[in-house]
Amino acid sequence: APRLRFAPSPTGFQHIGGYRTALFSWLFARHSGGTFILRIEDTDLSRTVEGAVSYLIEGLKWLGLDYDEGPVVGGPYGPYYQTQRKALYQQYAHQLIANGHAYRCYCTPERLEQMRKEQEAQKLPPRYDRRCRFLSAEERAALEAAGHSWTVRFAMPLEGETVVHDELHGDITFKNADLDDAVILKSDGYPTYHLANVIDDHLMGITHVLRGEEWIASAPRHVQIYQALGWQPPLFYHLPNVLGKDKKKLSKRHNAPSWDTLQRQGYLPEAVFNFLALLGWAYDDKTEIFSREELIRVFTLDRIGVSGGILDPDKLTWMNGVYIRQLPLEELTRRTLPYLERPAAEGGLPDSVPRPLDFAYTQRVLQLEQERLKTLGEAAQMIDFFYVDELHYDTTLLIQKQMDAASTRAALERTREILVALDRWEHSALEEPLRALAATLGLKTGQLFGAIRVAISGRTVSPPLFQTMEVLGRQRTLHRLDQAIA
Ligand code: GLU
Repeated sequence: APRLRFAPSPTGFQHIGGYRTALFSWLFARHSGGTFILRIEDTDLSRTVEGAVSYLIEGLKWLGLDYDEGPVVGGPYGPYYQTQRKALYQQYAHQLIANGHAYRCYCTPERLEQMRKEQEAQKLPPRYDRRCRFLSAEERAALEAAGHSWTVRFAMPLEGETVVHDELHGDITFKNADLDDAVILKSDGYPTYHLANVIDDHLMGITHVLRGEEWIASAPRHVQIYQALGWQPPLFYHLPNVLGKDKKKLSKRHNAPSWDTLQRQGYLPEAVFNFLALLGWAYDDKTEIFSREELIRVFTLDRIGVSGGILDPDKLTWMNGVYIRQLPLEELTRRTLPYLERPAAEGGLPDSVPRPLDFAYTQRVLQLEQERLKTLGEAAQMIDFFYVDELHYDTTLLIQKQMDAASTRAALERTREILVALDRWEHSALEEPLRALAATLGLKTGQLFGAIRVAISGRTVSPPLFQTMEVLGRQRTLHRLDQAIA
């Protein structure tokens, strides 16, 4: 059965696009009854960022991408942190040296820097000049005896070509003369990505490698290392880049959100999951909404495209709205409450509103807003008028077109009289007498209802007026009319 891995380097906090690769591997593993593995490629100690691993794992959890082997859960091919596999890489590096596929390089950082400068001055590509590859046995012995530190470099064939078979791009041919002898083991004894990645993908039995297109350039080195170790490479799928809305490769400049920002803003993980699945993969040219189960069922690797997937924030917001509308009301309420109850400074309702909120009341409020809600995080500012005791708004909003302060006040006074006398406080009972009132006053319903809307909600746009009044209740409605009249 297929074995796939997500192999992030904890060198920073990934934006949401970075999870797309994990999602594709996860989906295919689940589709094919295979195994999904998380491996932490943390051998570049100088770039390791504190907290990045747990942040990553939390993000996978939020998206529902459970892994079968990896940190915390363990597994038969561990450890799953590369820093804990150091001895293994050293063993293979020495095997490569013994077989003539690699060599110790004693060049100092100063020499390499000097070389790089000269190449730059001559407009040559930066490349190691292979000085240590051709040292005589005596020279080598002397350098060793003098206690020089060393790295291990892979000895690329000097001639010929390396073909990378990519399942999405076809065969990609590289001239060996264009590839230099990359460091595979550093002077601190840790491997570089090239070596560690090959060894682990092999030893962990990885069958399909899904990763970003930016790794194509490294792939011929990997193919050479597989050959030198006598191993069969896995199937490679270099995924199209995730692009910004300007169709440029996603970068810092695009300010792509991270998973926890989306969570705070009230994006549903299932919507983000669906959205990410369409970044470079499509089932057909129209279907956009897929449940997790549907995606597992239909996700095959041959439908991955080669042109980039665009991370369009507006599309994500639209999709989130679709998922919000699909939620049963009770679940919507359960999931929105924490957003409403957080402090006002974090986007919750005004701090004057007592917590916890009443579940049943909130459910009635959300029923009115579910259609319009795009994120759970924006709920508070849409519905705060249902919760606060005193409204603060610009009272000139009360005055509708072709009306003045006096006619507005008169209309609201008559409204109040009608509402006090009603025996049933239900939206169906509210509508008719208020329509009749508009006719009596010679007003368009839009004028009367507009004034009432502002009086009870403090805003010019709200959910349907009579439903809003019903949920607000008679007392609050009358109190707000009094304030508007005063
Ligand atoms: N550690 C690499 C990264 O962070 C993984 C590349 C690969 O999947 O081979 O992108």
